[in-house]
Amino acid sequence: MSEKAVFDADITLLKDKVVSIIGYGNQGRAQGHILRENGIDVIIGNIRDEYWDQAVKDGFKVYEIDDAIRRSQVALLLVPDEVAPDVYYKKIEPEVRKKEHFVLDFASGYNIMYGFIKPQPNTDVILVAPRMIGRGILNLHKQKRGYPVLLGVAQDSSGKAWDYAKAIAKGIGAIGLPGGIAIKSSFEEETLLDLLTEHSWAPLLIAAMQAYFDVVTEEYGVSPEAAILELYASGELSDIAKAMAEIGLFEQMKFHSRTSQYGQFTRARKFYNRVKEIVREEAARIWSGEFAREWSLDQAFGRVVLQRLWKIMTSSKLAKAEDRLYRQLGRR
Ligand code: NDP
Repeated sequence: MSEKAVFDADITLLKDKVVSIIGYGNQGRAQGHILRENGIDVIIGNIRDEYWDQAVKDGFKVYEIDDAIRRSQVALLLVPDEVAPDVYYKKIEPEVRKKEHFVLDFASGYNIMYGFIKPQPNTDVILVAPRMIGRGILNLHKQKRGYPVLLGVAQDSSGKAWDYAKAIAKGIGAIGLPGGIAIKSSFEEETLLDLLTEHSWAPLLIAAMQAYFDVVTEEYGVSPEAAILELYASGELSDIAKAMAEIGLFEQMKFHSRTSQYGQFTRARKFYNRVKEIVREEAARIWSGEFAREWSLDQAFGRVVLQRLWKIMTSSKLAKAEDRLYRQLGRR
């Protein structure tokens, strides 16, 4: 195992601090609960909406975001990446400027990598990025199990930034428990890995499913129901994904028939070079900031492209057939 893997850490550094969770959403709720269970003094900073009410119901002290920053020495910034710069400059930075020292933790590398947020020199800027959705984190926590996180340090003002990152990883239940692992990484690496999934194999899977559906229904007379059940509605795909996580990509292959193994391996080899070219191109667009500029532009124009694509995708033959099938199956 590389020396980048961390399995446990000391949480003492957080014990005499107030830790604010800024944004009580998917990640905020999960991370806040576990930190509190681990004996940390946690407060919530949120806008006044249903998440605020939820946090109060869950027994937390909830404050306006600037007030929560004022009251804390460590903050976990867990609002969506696209609103984080606005929240940071309007609510967080004015308070941090008044402090001697502050620790600001991110769950994603995006805003720091591209300079959308440039923290003050008195701030430790750290990354503790779960590779898991909030609900998954809470489920594992109930089973007393950890989960994977990537760690990073962009600015070490106190000289203890890595220790803070590891302490938070332990505090949010990622490490120190079976199945838990933290990997020393960086804001840039985390962003590349995260976006490259979204720009390569995940959309290739969507495109392949759409093409498969169109070919078998339009050119071979297959019923849309049979095609969608084969593609994903049966749940076989999620079983395979689960087996990949649990026993590995290649070990799970042994559960497939020999015909399937032969077909999958030969075609994987055949497609590899073309796909590698796509992956390489997309990685370069992420690394250079070209994608961040493209997405910022769409956000500045009211997300026109994203909204159009939702319309186009959900009016496709596949989406309509899926809606019919899922109604018949009582899933909708
Ligand atoms: P959510 O979409 O769940 O939102 C979190 C909170 O931010 C909510 O309380 C939301 O309230 C609040 N919020 C939204 N807009 C504003 C605003 N303009 N001002 C103030 N607060 C606002 O976020 P996630 O938990 O999904 O993501 C948080 C971070 O975690 C991100 O950096 C993300 O990249 C990272 N992350 C997310 C994962 C995931 O599975 N979702 C996995 C790993 C990392 P409201 O909606 O009411 O406005």
